[in-house]
Amino acid sequence: MLSPHSKESEFKHLDKIFKNQLLTSIAWRTSTASEKIARLEKIRSWIKDHQQEIRNALKNDFGKPEPETDISEIFPVTAEINHTIKNLKKWMKPKSVSTPLPMLGTSGKVYVEPKGTSLIISPWNYPFNLTIGPLISALSAGCTAIIKPSEMTPHTSELVSQMISELFDPNEVAVVSGEVEVSTELLKLPFDHIFFTGSPAVGKIVMKAAAENLTSVTLELGGKSPAILNEDADYKDAAEKIIWGKYVNCGQTCIAPDYILVPESRQEILIMEMKVALQKMYDPAYEGIEKSPDMARVVNDKHFQRLTRTIEDAISKGAKLEFGGKCNPNTRYIDPTILTEVTEEMLVMQEEIFGPIFPIKTYKSLEEAIEYVNSKPKPLALYFFGKNPEITSKVLHKTSSGNAVINDCVLHFLHLGLPFGGVNNSGIGKAHGYHGFLAFSNEKGVLTQRVGLNNVTLLRPPYGIKAKKIIASLIKWF
Ligand code: NAD
Repeated sequence: MLSPHSKESEFKHLDKIFKNQLLTSIAWRTSTASEKIARLEKIRSWIKDHQQEIRNALKNDFGKPEPETDISEIFPVTAEINHTIKNLKKWMKPKSVSTPLPMLGTSGKVYVEPKGTSLIISPWNYPFNLTIGPLISALSAGCTAIIKPSEMTPHTSELVSQMISELFDPNEVAVVSGEVEVSTELLKLPFDHIFFTGSPAVGKIVMKAAAENLTSVTLELGGKSPAILNEDADYKDAAEKIIWGKYVNCGQTCIAPDYILVPESRQEILIMEMKVALQKMYDPAYEGIEKSPDMARVVNDKHFQRLTRTIEDAISKGAKLEFGGKCNPNTRYIDPTILTEVTEEMLVMQEEIFGPIFPIKTYKSLEEAIEYVNSKPKPLALYFFGKNPEITSKVLHKTSSGNAVINDCVLHFLHLGLPFGGVNNSGIGKAHGYHGFLAFSNEKGVLTQRVGLNNVTLLRPPYGIKAKKIIASLIKWF
């Protein structure tokens, strides 16, 4: 805990870093693609040299299995760097736009300039990926960055801090560690862009603070993402995909399927296939899932208690425990827990679960499932499993979600050609690849006019008959 005096000096320190980064950001407006690529290459080679340290940090933070760290923390970041390096020159190039007839004689181009200074606030659940991923977008656009990693994953946050201090001058990129009060101070500074990943509740606080400085925001938030299974889905295939998507990172994934909507007549087969998939992936030797080296743990006691309370609440209100339910507070292990007969009165159907609990709700008609989704805030992702293209198209058009995946889940995060993000309660703005680059860029429309006589000269006052005729024809024809 800092004394008021040391707090004051720490906050002054933040101001100083910000002001220095402001100067750098002005200098970086003219950064070439090669200079930006050099910054990204430094990060890539550091990651290559410190892969084991990254795995160890995640292991220490919440028992994350090493292969999961490789696939969901390291690979997405190196892929993002490689994709950006390959495309950056093209993204940075001013793009010509066609000239509308009334603007004949002029030419128009869209320039992309770096917004300037940026603040990146990241969550604990993918603490490496979701901190360095946005940084790549910031650097590719040419922005400086102050990073505020999560206090809940101290090993990874410390490693990120070490990495940044080895690679960058604090005037370029700096990590500021701390809890809410540090975030609150940072949010007072007039950044040019804030990239926040976290809960909708904190997202609102960030957006309010940003409004004071009219700072643009990208909000990557969460919520309850549904998985809808249609009658004609392949239930074995769907169950395997859903189980992996849910239980990677122990269900602590913003885009994990939060709950399942299944036709009444198919619930039994689904549960059977889910149990088979769980056994196959997490308990092949029949020793119990708790012994699996491939299942991460709940991040801390607070979340462990929240999740056990969620299970107890559901069961006490009449939910049926179909699988799991065992919790071990010493290791913060919670069984993959499947619940049916869930109702809206239960916490499990009210809040984002963010853990290994899987409620299943039945529906009588697909319309009913669509209506249910539409009665809730727009989800970050919607997963639909079915074979009929017309029905798939109907679901896509009748619902709204940040992203959607057909016949799989979670994987869209890795597709760098797609914009990633939410809508309203699940987020504002998009990330990844070109969309991440744009989030940190200002698209500046530039019009070049010829010198001397041009179309517009004829429209100047005094407005004679000729000018009036031209104006009338503009309205009539264009
Ligand atoms: P959180 O909102 O509690 O915290 C996120 C960050 O905000 C942390 O760095 C934290 O220190 C900071 N913070 C907390 N309270 C603050 C306040 N009052 N003012 C300013 N900053 C504050 O989220 P979390 O628990 O770290 O992460 C889980 C949430 O993040 C879930 O809702 C999940 O769905 C969401 N999430 C979204 C994405 C995405 O890409 N859309 C990715 C991962 C997680």
